[in-house]
Amino acid sequence: MTDIAGQQKLRALDLDLRRRAAAVIPGGMYGHMSVTRLPPAYPQFYERSEGTTVWDVDGNEYVDFMCSFGPMILGYKHRRVEAAAAGQAAKGDTQPGPAPCMVELAELLVGRVAHADWAIFAKNGTDATTISLMIARAKTGRSKVLAAAGAYHGAAPWSTLRMDGVAPDERASLHYYEYNDAASVERAIEEAGAGEVAAIITSPFKHHAGFDEEEVDPAFARRLRALCDELGAALVMDEVRAGFRLNHGGSWEHLGVAPDLSAWSKAIANGYPLAAILGSGPYADAASRIFVTGSFWFQAVPMAAAVATLNALADEDAVAVMERAGSRLREGFEQVAREVGVPIRQTGPVQLPNLSFPGDTDFAKASAFSAAMLDRGVIVHPRHNWFLCAAHTDGDVDRFLEAAEDGLRAVLQCD
Ligand code: PMP
Repeated sequence: MTDIAGQQKLRALDLDLRRRAAAVIPGGMYGHMSVTRLPPAYPQFYERSEGTTVWDVDGNEYVDFMCSFGPMILGYKHRRVEAAAAGQAAKGDTQPGPAPCMVELAELLVGRVAHADWAIFAKNGTDATTISLMIARAKTGRSKVLAAAGAYHGAAPWSTLRMDGVAPDERASLHYYEYNDAASVERAIEEAGAGEVAAIITSPFKHHAGFDEEEVDPAFARRLRALCDELGAALVMDEVRAGFRLNHGGSWEHLGVAPDLSAWSKAIANGYPLAAILGSGPYADAASRIFVTGSFWFQAVPMAAAVATLNALADEDAVAVMERAGSRLREGFEQVAREVGVPIRQTGPVQLPNLSFPGDTDFAKASAFSAAMLDRGVIVHPRHNWFLCAAHTDGDVDRFLEAAEDGLRAVLQCD
């Protein structure tokens, strides 16, 4: 194993790129807004990546437990996915229409996800959630949507977490409930008007950034389904973040609760840009009526990558692999925290774990922990859940646990 701690170089190239970016890119940074919430030492520019390892532009090496905020589910440069992508790229990517692999992908998804009778494709998670709601509105002829307060469903005006640049009208048809609180859903229905509700959008579990995660209460999931049935509204599942990490099909299949529509992106093509909207038969007509399109939506390379990703997820038993690595991390981390004497809270499914420190309202401890982990060559995030992928090895988890001892000692300095 390389001596990461001894290798840290001054991040001179990263700092130079930040300076140049600040001159030509508003705010100096782009991409994930969460970059702005990272400790300042965090590299913002990366040179390359392979497996579970990423290298920043200054040549520092890290084990990545953020998986690019989710897309990497099989590891960077997964051989099978890259071969499929390269094979398709040699033939064509953006063309006058889709390649045959689009139909193959739709067939694969319909076979894999229980509630799905059809699939349509786009690029980002935001596309997928937004289009799901359009389909729900087209089907029901209604406009109101219920969403969990604090949930993130994308960067469109209806769902972004900030109001800058958003006209209040663009939010006027949204009403909010508390995740896992059925009474609050009923209150939101009353507020919206029962005959006005087109959809209830939810997520596989509560994963609001900056908060402890909460597994779904199965009774809550069933109640959402029953309420949608009573209302004649669509139950929309936002699978963008958790999809294919908890289950090879839909995330609530083990609960016996089927959504009408589901939105997928992130992990679906192991890093290639693709999103999918899946739906049940009764929604197919509405899905065929809405007008949605994009110049790059028929790109063939991401679709070929997605076919290979879905096949590899099944063949590698990826969910079980992630669960095993995540459980090892959680149990080992609990033990390290006990030994160092720092109370920690680990919440959510082990494949998408969230760490918090009791009473750490300003995230000072979480930031100190993440900065110390970075120094030891491990990438985590102070305010956002982490992501396991099927390429994480016992060695990676051991690296995490060794680094975590120093990370938690840094937290002790905060008191
Ligand atoms: N829904 C959820 C639950 C997400 O986590 C995200 C992205 N973090 C989105 C939607 C939006 O996806 P995208 O950034 O690809 O538009």
